[in-house]
Amino acid sequence: MNLLDGKKIAADIRAELREEVETLKAQGKRVPKLAVVIVGNNPASETYVNNKIKACAEVGIEAARIAYDESISEQTLLNEVTKLNNDPTIDGFIVQLPLPEHINESAILSAIDYRKDVDGLTPENVGRTVQGLPSLVSATPRGIRELLARYDIQTEGKHVVVIGRSNIVGKPIAMLLMQRPYLSLPGMSASSLGDATVTICHSKTRNLADICRTADIIIVAAGSPKLLTADMVRDGVVVIDVGINRVDDITSPRGYRLVGDVDFESVAPKAAFITPVPGGVGPMTIASLLQNTLQAYHS
Ligand code: NAD
Repeated sequence: MNLLDGKKIAADIRAELREEVETLKAQGKRVPKLAVVIVGNNPASETYVNNKIKACAEVGIEAARIAYDESISEQTLLNEVTKLNNDPTIDGFIVQLPLPEHINESAILSAIDYRKDVDGLTPENVGRTVQGLPSLVSATPRGIRELLARYDIQTEGKHVVVIGRSNIVGKPIAMLLMQRPYLSLPGMSASSLGDATVTICHSKTRNLADICRTADIIIVAAGSPKLLTADMVRDGVVVIDVGINRVDDITSPRGYRLVGDVDFESVAPKAAFITPVPGGVGPMTIASLLQNTLQAYHS
């Protein structure tokens, strides 16, 4: 079993990006700038946003945090999006999700200029990805693809099973891996990823275990601890665990610990490669956001 060390690869990517930003500075060019819009005070969102801003600082990307009260109207938020769309000093921006219930998330996302949509969630970017056109791909799928590439795990002709059909993980990673490899993203280390045979499973799928047993690569993004167990995988499988779940743990000072969707202890001995949680896909997601910001800067 080999660990797919997302923490290390993400650090490598940040070092590469830092060098790129240093070069821009040395050439007298302006540095890339990301804006992060956060609404309300959801503690998880606060943590994510702080981590993103910290990562920007580490590579020299400028970051602006734009915070609004929970009670902000949809129109005021739409006005902010328009302002950021038109601000030439901002290369990319994200609106941290989830938004309060009175705001139509899809209306906000659709208003973002796709060229600045570094979360890759606008219908325009999703459509462009589906058609194999240059696009900003959402950060977690981009990170998974990069992790596979950097460990030289080929996908051509492989059977990839994706568990989960969300817009931010399941659907886009399935799309990326089934594409012909012409969809190459700047900064990608391998162009041969893609060309897989992809099966997407979800909560209504029958015989999940049988389907998983035919997989060469399994990507789990369900939000369900220990969903994937040893009896569901064959020897030599590659397992990417996207899940982030809190489980009670009285031995931890926080009273909980984070686990993925995979029963790591039982699955790891059968796997050729597997991501840990934490330290697998999570760090790759933030690194990909930074890569997307550089991509938006250059486009
Ligand atoms: P989601 O929460 O929107 O939906 C979960 C999906 O899993 C659904 O499509 C559902 O049909 C499927 N599912 C749930 N239980 C299932 C089961 N028993 N069998 C088969 N399918 C099942 O999905 P999401 O937003 O992609 O999040 C999934 C998990 O990934 C969550 O734990 C989330 O916290 C985590 N996540 C992690 C990162 C990261 O950077 N590591 C990024 C995004 C999401």
